[in-house]
Amino acid sequence: MTHKITIKKVAQSRVNEIDFDNIPFGREFSDHMFEATYSDGKWHSCEIKPLSRISIHPAMLTLHYGQAIFEGMKATKHVDGRPLLFRPELHAERLNASAHRMCMPDVPPQLFLDALHTLVDMEAEWIPARKGSALYLRPFMFATDEYIGVSSSTSYKFIIMCLPVGPYYSKPVKLRAERKYVRAVDGGVGEAKVAGNYAASLYPARLAKEAGFDQVLWLDAHEFKYVQEVGTMNIFFVFKDKIVTPATTGTILKGITRKTLIEIMKDRGMQVEERKISIDEIKEAYKNGDLVESFGAGTAAVVANISLIQDGDFQMTFDESNWKTSRDLKKHINDLRAGEVPDNHGWVIPVHSEVMA
Ligand SMILES: *Cc1c(COP(=O)(O)O)cnc(C)c1O
Repeated sequence: MTHKITIKKVAQSRVNEIDFDNIPFGREFSDHMFEATYSDGKWHSCEIKPLSRISIHPAMLTLHYGQAIFEGMKATKHVDGRPLLFRPELHAERLNASAHRMCMPDVPPQLFLDALHTLVDMEAEWIPARKGSALYLRPFMFATDEYIGVSSSTSYKFIIMCLPVGPYYSKPVKLRAERKYVRAVDGGVGEAKVAGNYAASLYPARLAKEAGFDQVLWLDAHEFKYVQEVGTMNIFFVFKDKIVTPATTGTILKGITRKTLIEIMKDRGMQVEERKISIDEIKEAYKNGDLVESFGAGTAAVVANISLIQDGDFQMTFDESNWKTSRDLKKHINDLRAGEVPDNHGWVIPVHSEVMA
């Protein structure tokens, strides 16, 4: 099934008004957005139009019962100027996994990809050329029935917005292992990229900030023993002889950066283990000098160094001079996204302009 995308362009682009050397994350939007409507069991009215407000009824289901999911991905520029996407099919797949868990309709992957290619092709001027910068893409879906009742909506919107973002030099993060609140529990929705997971994390994150930390390190909800992930990132631990990251067994968001890093490390012959890892094992390894580095992985920051992990009174500090694996990996991903190193996996997808509109 193909979906015709109607295109309405802005009279005048705002792209020249943007200071691409100084972009506040999350606050600058490109000229256009994609929007599709779901009703009567199908997606229709696919359009790319000037970014605009949407008008909503106070009873719109999302506002009350929270059927809202999203993706986050990036378009970059090849050194020769061509716009590129990174593993877009995995984002299409994950959006649908989230949709499934939330009783929302699938977005046909072909529609997702056609919308993405057409939109990014139109907004190519908005992709910052500077290495490490990107056009952040935010596909999301939400319920639009106007009805007060706990049931899954029969109508939805699927929208994609584009935001130019800078290199996101995230300063090293300080984490506190969370011993009271939990992010996700077996059988819950931790694996879905659902808006409410973030709302639920704000309060513990605030407490951690008040205590001088940047983010929470989530532990499992049964024993507060096994490490899950960090606010918006998956976590990796670099030991002297191996790299360990928690296995995604239902409570951890299946990060595409995480997956990519594991594949790159395996390509390099590094020993990577995806398994349960307890905070006690981490503390032991730290005491023995076997734990050298820890970092977060996610689309926004790509790789974020961790300078401190605290559990109760026990502090683990990580010295910048040891941040080698994380730096190499981050550079490799940014090089791939600029077309500067060979892409042996077909991860980097040139945007094609001939998608039919
Ligand atoms: C999106 C997200 C990640 C990172 O996923 P990427 O696909 O690498 O961007 C990690 N944890 C949570 C909770 C997330 O929502």
